[in-house]
Amino acid sequence: MTEEKQHRDESSYRGKICKCLLCDGILHYVLLLKPTPLANELLLEKEEQFSFPLNLMKCSSCSHLQLDYMVNPKKLYQHYLYCSDTSASNREYFKSYAEDMIKQFDPKKVLDIASNDGLFLSYFKERGIKVCGVDPAQNIAHAACEKGIDTYPEFFDETLAGQMLCTRGKFDLITCNNAFAHNADLRPIVKGVEILLEDNGSFVFEVSYAMRLLEKGLFDLIYHEHMHHHHIKPLYDFLDKLGLRIYDAEERPTHGGSIRIYACKKESPLQPSDECRDLMFKEGKNFERLVSEFPIKIENNRGDLIALMEGIKSEGKTISILGFPAKATTLAYYFETDHTIIDDVFDDNVLKQGRWTPGGEWKVRPTSDIRERKPDYLLILAWNYADALIKTHRETVKGWGGKFIIPLPEMKVVE
Ligand SMILES: [Zn+2]
Repeated sequence: MTEEKQHRDESSYRGKICKCLLCDGILHYVLLLKPTPLANELLLEKEEQFSFPLNLMKCSSCSHLQLDYMVNPKKLYQHYLYCSDTSASNREYFKSYAEDMIKQFDPKKVLDIASNDGLFLSYFKERGIKVCGVDPAQNIAHAACEKGIDTYPEFFDETLAGQMLCTRGKFDLITCNNAFAHNADLRPIVKGVEILLEDNGSFVFEVSYAMRLLEKGLFDLIYHEHMHHHHIKPLYDFLDKLGLRIYDAEERPTHGGSIRIYACKKESPLQPSDECRDLMFKEGKNFERLVSEFPIKIENNRGDLIALMEGIKSEGKTISILGFPAKATTLAYYFETDHTIIDDVFDDNVLKQGRWTPGGEWKVRPTSDIRERKPDYLLILAWNYADALIKTHRETVKGWGGKFIIPLPEMKVVE
């Protein structure tokens, strides 16, 4: 590794987190995973990459789940390869989400934090609602602006919120989807929301739900960008200290199980709904048990998948990966899959094609190459899109008797 590169990698590493990111409580280990390179760092040229520690911790005070190492967010997000607008199911999801928000709130002005390529906001804009986005990935924020979605290419915090208040005023709906897990320090975001939210406005955000992650053993959702794995109770107390109150919560099917949380200003008369109270009650009852069962669940799944793949290889057959989402890196490292087991990686995302997967094991090929490579098995690491992926590729692989392997939540082989 060159001196310059060594310096670049070390400066991207922020070091160990010693206390709870929400309440400053003491942290305990839940799960030790293998160190991996950054899940979205797919390089054009093959070169050595720094592997960062990856461990799941639990706070002894508020029981919030989080990582114990922080990577410099500038390294993680300033040139990001994830675009919302790359799959039909994403477009469908955000469209119905936006329609739901319009029906519930009839908003006049919407701010989306971590707005990515502006897909979600575009559905408000086409209904004549004023929109504004903020996203630190400069390449993607610029692309959103070019599509007509006004987007600040910055990290959202109370300083930016103060400037926006002068130029744009307050918003009656502020949203934040799957990004509330991504920032180590959530205080600047919440303080910014408090500044820009109308008194009777709502702050709505979606995060992967830790209860489902634990219950289904979805350990591949743990990677460096996902600093937090939320459940409602710790968030309730955290927001409460910063002037917001969670008044509703509902489970969503995305990413193996997510939760949509609704918060208002504390001065608002809105109080937690029955559904919200019920979810928190179930958390209190089951959380500790699920935490203690989590490592065993993953080891069992690992054993099953490795045995299946070794059996396939012993028959002289080939396995390729179909879809290489961010979570694929955690799974590939933990299950110690390499090019001796997996021959190729295919992905629809043109931003990933022609690049090396983190760690440099495979070069990502377009899915149109599947026909030429004829893999006997396609391992679907984007398992949350398994149905759509199988539907798209079933006819192609049928020609040579190809099958699909879905590793999680329960390993299964599909013809
Ligand atoms: Zn805590």
